[in-house]
Amino acid sequence: MRTKTEGRSKGTPHVHPTDEASRRCIEECGARCCRYITMILPPPQREYELDEWSWFLAHESVSIYFAGRRWRMEIRSRCRYLSDQNACTIYERRPDICRLYSQEYCEYAGKTKHLYHFDTKEEFDRWWEEKRERERRRRSKRGRSPRARRPTASKGK
Ligand code: SF4
Ligand code: SF4
Repeated sequence: MRTKTEGRSKGTPHVHPTDEASRRCIEECGARCCRYITMILPPPQREYELDEWSWFLAHESVSIYFAGRRWRMEIRSRCRYLSDQNACTIYERRPDICRLYSQEYCEYAGKTKHLYHFDTKEEFDRWWEEKRERERRRRSKRGRSPRARRPTASKGK
């Protein structure tokens, strides 16, 4: 899913009750971008942060993904200003983030592939365990390589 902060373009209207340019948003798309929020997550550095991500994903309607060189959390939650007809009921007062979003970049355009995307705690835990395992193997391999061996003590020759 593209986030509103990823797809910026000047003043493309969307989800306007009468605007022709928004027909696609209302009728074809069903206002997907008004049904979730996202926030940037700092890259996890420590075990407790990974544990926290695992906990985030234990909750319904939460996903974590990597896009635009950033980790993001998505929470699917319908905007309370979206009408039953998929129109914005506060169009003139809508937040800038909504004003700046563009059909050109949005998820409807189909540009939704992420390098990593986790919808469940299990997916994330598995990915992290595999990553940890690869790191362990890499370390032990490095430990066995001649270059990585500690120099042996001189015999005084
Ligand atoms: S996701 Fe794109 S097409 Fe759908 S409502 Fe938002 S801007 Fe319109
Ligand atoms: S304020 Fe309007 S445009 Fe913005 S998310 Fe809500 S319904 Fe959509």
